[in-house]
Amino acid sequence: MSDRDKFDDIEEIDDREVNDAPKEKNEQDGYEDVCFICHRPESKAGKMIRIPNDICICSDCMQKTFDTMNHAGFPIGDMGNFGNMPNISMINLSDLQNMNVMPKSQKLKKKKPKEEKKAKPELDIRTIPAPHKIKASLDEYVVGQEHAKKVMSVAVYNHYKRVTCDDLDEIEIEKSNMLMLGPTGSGKTYMVKTLAKLLDVPLAIADATSLTEAGYIGDDIESVVSKLLAAADNDVERAEHGIIFIDEIDKIAKKKTTNQRDVSGESVQQGMLKLLEGAEIEVPVGANSKNAMVPLATVNTKNILFICGGAFPDLEEIIKERLNKQSAMGFHADLKDKYDGEENILQRVEVEDIRKYGMIPEFLGRLPVIFALDALTEDMLVRILTEPKSAIIRQYQKLLAMDEVKLEFEEEALHAIARKAKEKDVGARALRAIIEAFMLDIMYEIPKDDSIGMVTITKDYIDNHGAPLITMRGCPVLPGAAGA
Ligand code: ADP
Repeated sequence: MSDRDKFDDIEEIDDREVNDAPKEKNEQDGYEDVCFICHRPESKAGKMIRIPNDICICSDCMQKTFDTMNHAGFPIGDMGNFGNMPNISMINLSDLQNMNVMPKSQKLKKKKPKEEKKAKPELDIRTIPAPHKIKASLDEYVVGQEHAKKVMSVAVYNHYKRVTCDDLDEIEIEKSNMLMLGPTGSGKTYMVKTLAKLLDVPLAIADATSLTEAGYIGDDIESVVSKLLAAADNDVERAEHGIIFIDEIDKIAKKKTTNQRDVSGESVQQGMLKLLEGAEIEVPVGANSKNAMVPLATVNTKNILFICGGAFPDLEEIIKERLNKQSAMGFHADLKDKYDGEENILQRVEVEDIRKYGMIPEFLGRLPVIFALDALTEDMLVRILTEPKSAIIRQYQKLLAMDEVKLEFEEEALHAIARKAKEKDVGARALRAIIEAFMLDIMYEIPKDDSIGMVTITKDYIDNHGAPLITMRGCPVLPGAAGA
């Protein structure tokens, strides 16, 4: 084959692939291609040349490759012999065919043009429900926590109002990033998840314990933005209106006595400052580390809502100490142990207490909305079992209803479950484990016998002193078998 013939071959492939179906598909679904060599998206680098295995190369890079070959006096016909050329790394196209080098998840969603955005804003003030409506929707899923739901609804409402009227005048509304305090299992993650679902915004959940200062082993701080981008299907615009929840934030408190570099404490707080406030962050698309093979996207965190949550285990002591100090002065001095018996002492938290705990003032300054969740009482646990839309008991009732068996719980049985859960000290999280343990036998035995019409869980069964009440089909319901 002559040199000319080979060149024609390459052009033929290009023409065929450029006009190929995947390209049209990309245009339809709004995703754009990214250059395999320089990692620029199509909107920046111009038309892409598509080669087999879904690899795209921008015309600049393609041109540079040919120029370099020409400069080196490289005969096009001798394409197999690159070994002796300095400073040139060539891609062997036939190798790429066998590699999955540019997975589909690493494509970027195209940004909409500016005019289109103005005509149809994604989050119109009128479409953001008023705080009481947000709270009413939360009520359907979250039991109790009235104060927390109210604070969150107002903060979210203000945040999205701020997003939409961003540049109307020079009065800048402060960001409503939140700091949520509450014991484990009190529903912090659950509330944020519910909120994101109701608002239909992407949500990324990260654990502060895994974060370290950039360059150290662990996730670097910007990886949380990368997670959010993935949750938004690589749609940068959608990610920029999303929510990032950072759990276990108390674990990055300043270490009190240390003479080593604090790479997972204070420096993580420092590193998060610009993220919380708003910065342009370059994040890898479809991977969680930046490297040569991964295209980068720029995400602005200015309109991302950050919610930090933590249990802050010894914070109560700090709050009590402050309250005792305040009330131990003057003629009306209170007893020293006045606050010892108070259950929801966390509700009296002030910024000063959290600062004392080890969070740096600059960090707290960027989380203006601070609130605490109530510790779950036995009654609340009973309500969690039965009231929410997808309450765990309702789930089991639905499962058994498919076998045409009714599942009922005596009121006393529900309290017995709640008491057991409370002993475990992990909040509502213990409920599922307890229920699953005693429901196992029921779920195993009941489908065996077609004549069973109803199962009633009794307190004795929960306390391991008896069996559940079984009612056969067509039999009258036993008196005293109260329903849940
Ligand atoms: P945290 O993040 O505070 O440790 P989670 O949010 O993970 O706790 O809560 C664990 C589970 O407990 C949730 O999945 C949810 O089902 C349940 N739960 C906790 N609090 C509530 C509540 N107030 N209402 C309804 N369910 C709750």
